Amino acid sequence: MTTRITVLGGGYGGVAFIKKLMAQRADVAVTLIDRNAYHTVLTEVHQVAAGNRAPESIRIPFAEMDGFRFIQAEVTGLNPATREVLTTVGPVEYDTLILALGGVDTDFGVPGVRQNTLMLHGMRDALAIRDRLNGLPADAPVVVAGGGLTGVELAAEIGLRRGATSNITLVEGAPTLLPALAGVLQRGARRRLGALGVNVLTGAKIARVDEQMVHFTDGSALPFALMVWACGVRANPLIAQFGIATDRGGRAPVDEYLRTELPDVYALGDSAATGLPPTAQAANQQGANLAEHIAALLRGQIRPLRPVQMRGTLVDLGHIFGVGSLGDTLHTAGLLPALLKRANVAKWLWTAAGLVTATRYFFGLPVGAAAGGKPVDEGQGGM
Ligand SMILES: Cc1cc2nc3c(=O)[nH]c(=O)nc-3n(C[C@H](O)[C@H](O)[C@H](O)COP(=O)(O)OP(=O)(O)OC[C@H]3O[C@@H](n4cnc5c(N)ncnc54)[C@H](O)[C@@H]3O)c2cc1C
Repeated sequence: MTTRITVLGGGYGGVAFIKKLMAQRADVAVTLIDRNAYHTVLTEVHQVAAGNRAPESIRIPFAEMDGFRFIQAEVTGLNPATREVLTTVGPVEYDTLILALGGVDTDFGVPGVRQNTLMLHGMRDALAIRDRLNGLPADAPVVVAGGGLTGVELAAEIGLRRGATSNITLVEGAPTLLPALAGVLQRGARRRLGALGVNVLTGAKIARVDEQMVHFTDGSALPFALMVWACGVRANPLIAQFGIATDRGGRAPVDEYLRTELPDVYALGDSAATGLPPTAQAANQQGANLAEHIAALLRGQIRPLRPVQMRGTLVDLGHIFGVGSLGDTLHTAGLLPALLKRANVAKWLWTAAGLVTATRYFFGLPVGAAAGGKPVDEGQGGM
């Protein structure tokens, strides 16, 4: 009998899962539900936010992917007893359910953040930031809060757009930027940001944000015309709403097969508590590994889930310069990490959308609707 597999979320984990499952030729009927009509290459949205890249080049319409049924809808709930996902277009049944709903930004309870800043966690956010930047004078003060990957790359990208007189401040509460990287790379990133006109404030803890002023715990303050908050993620709140007892980050606890406490419900990527950092590389590998495991199960075989191999971190700082670590020992700064990051994105696009799209992306040519493809339906929702 054909097994109905329903995947919630067509991000890195969901798409990797479906692509690998298709390759296994299992007897399955796969349904993907996502609020958007397209997959977003989330790791690159900062380029769209800064206005340096067309949105089409990093969103892949699900209609261009074969082999599964796609439903564009907002997921709103789950009924494990009847094995139904509740959505804005009605219930969808499943035999096996994959939760790949990603994460959301968190304000850590800092007053004024929700009301007075923009967040960056998806295409809609990126377009909102881009539109605000477009409406500002080129030297209007911009504050980016968060010295992790997202904040650093966004600040660099806005610096690239505006030039050395850019009036951008990157604020981080910890003593250093990019805490996951070696000191030599943190310092390299800081120098590069300086060259792009980004003023870096570390050890600056934010107490509250007013309409046009960010206040620090030491009593100082900084005015802004636009502030972007890029200070951390939590799992999608739907995980808790589904009745799963989550960890502190809102993630679903899972076993070694990525099974949640609910029968035949698996979780991966930013939705799952696996002890791994919330990264595209973890979500992507978990999706592919889980697909192999489930395909084997359907053939009556038990196949242990392959472990995720974290291969390093690459940070793009303005397209021709980056910093990165490959494995635990190789630290590199300059053109190489920037090119490697672009190659990584192209490799993912190859998986998700094919070789032509990947090649066009790598060489900076228009992709998607910008290259003559179908425009995508924006649909409902906030991502
Ligand atoms: C700006 C930014 C930069 C990043 N840079 C990097 C990087 O350089 N390297 C790296 O490894 N990681 C990076 N990350 C993290 C990485 O993107 C995530 O860890 C990864 O996308 C998680 O994959 P996922 O499949 O769990 O979820 P996602 O890729 O977030 O996909 C979740 C999907 O669920 C859908 N969805 C959510 N809620 C609903 C709902 N209620 N109804 C219907 N659909 C819904 C969304 O539309 C989306 O398609 C970055 C993240 C951001 C935000």
